[in-house]
Amino acid sequence: MSEIADNSHMHVPDRWNLIWKLKVPPKIKSFLWRVCRGCFPTRARLSSRGVSCPLDCVQCNNNYEDSIHILVECPKAVQMWRDVNLWDTIDRVLRQDYNIHALIFTLLQQLSSGQCELMATIMWSLWKSRNMKFWQQQNEQNSQVLQRATHLLEEWIAAQAFRSCSSAQPTISQARPTRPEEDNWKKPAPGRYKCNIDASFSTSLNRVGLGMCLRDDVGVFVLAKMEWFAPLCDIDVGEAVGLHTALDWISNQQFDNVYFALDCKRVVDCVNSSIDDSSEFGCIISACKQLLVDRFQKSHVEFNRRQANRVAHELAQEALSNPSPHTIDDVPTYIWHILAGEMQ
Ligand SMILES: [Zn+2]
Repeated sequence: MSEIADNSHMHVPDRWNLIWKLKVPPKIKSFLWRVCRGCFPTRARLSSRGVSCPLDCVQCNNNYEDSIHILVECPKAVQMWRDVNLWDTIDRVLRQDYNIHALIFTLLQQLSSGQCELMATIMWSLWKSRNMKFWQQQNEQNSQVLQRATHLLEEWIAAQAFRSCSSAQPTISQARPTRPEEDNWKKPAPGRYKCNIDASFSTSLNRVGLGMCLRDDVGVFVLAKMEWFAPLCDIDVGEAVGLHTALDWISNQQFDNVYFALDCKRVVDCVNSSIDDSSEFGCIISACKQLLVDRFQKSHVEFNRRQANRVAHELAQEALSNPSPHTIDDVPTYIWHILAGEMQ
C-alpha cells in the first residue's frame, strides 16, 4: 500500500533533481522516477488499478509484491543489498520511514554518488530479473543481476567519456570529409536527445500505428514507445497525433533538450509557424505548440528525411500489430541493425 499512500515527498522542492541529476543512463532515471511516482507496474500496483492478477511475489512466491518488497525486502533483494554492503543503511532508513519513496530519496541524500548510481542501477536490474522470471521463466543468480548493473554503468560511463573526448576535439570531426548527411540519421548536439517519430497507415486494419524512439547524443537507444489508434485518418493528422503523443510522453519522462524529428514536412512547418487554423489538423498542431511552450524550454521540432527516420518507421509498422500501447526500455531486435548502422 505504500506505493499510493504518501505523496508528501513530491512537493519538496528540488527533490526530483536527486534522480534526474544522477550520473546513470536515462532509462535508470526514468525507472527510478516511475518507482517514486508510484507508476511502476508491480502486482500490487496493477491490482490497485483494477487488473486481476495474483498478489504474491514473482521471485519468492511469498508475500505481497509491491515496490518495497520486490526492490528491497524480497529475500533475493536483501541478499543483493548485503552483497554490496548497503543492507545496514537500508534497514536503518526503513525502520524510520517504511516507504519506498522516502527510502530512495533518503538514500540519494546519504550515500556517496558512486553508491547512489549503483543503488539505482541495481534496483533496475532486480526488476529486470523479476521480469525475466515472469516472462521467460529464467532464474538468475544474484551475481548475474549485479553483473548486468555494473556492466551497464561501466558502458555508459565509457560512452560519456568518449563523448566528452570527441566534443573536446572539434577540429578532428570538422576535418572529416563531408557525406550526404541529410540522408543519414544525425546525432543531436552534445547533451541533447533526439526523438524520431513516425506514423504508419494500414487500410486493411483500419488503424494508424505510431512509433517513437529517443536516443542520446552518441546515438545510444534510451526509450521507445509504440501504440496505435483507429479508425484510419488523413496522413497529416496521423503524423500530428504522433508528434503530440511524443511530446506528452517525453515530457512525462521529464526530458528536455530534445530534438523531435519527423519526416512529415507539413507538420514540422506548421508547428514552427505562428499561423493558427481551426481545422482538425490545425487544432492538433496548436495543442503541440502548447505542449512545447508549457513543458519544454530547450527543445524543438525539426524535419528529417525519411531515410533518417527509419527506426521510428519500423516501430510504427510494428505498432500496428501490437495489442496495446507500450514503452520499451531495451533495444527491440527488429531495429537493432538500423541502430547499429546509424551509430557508426
Ligand atoms: Zn519476493
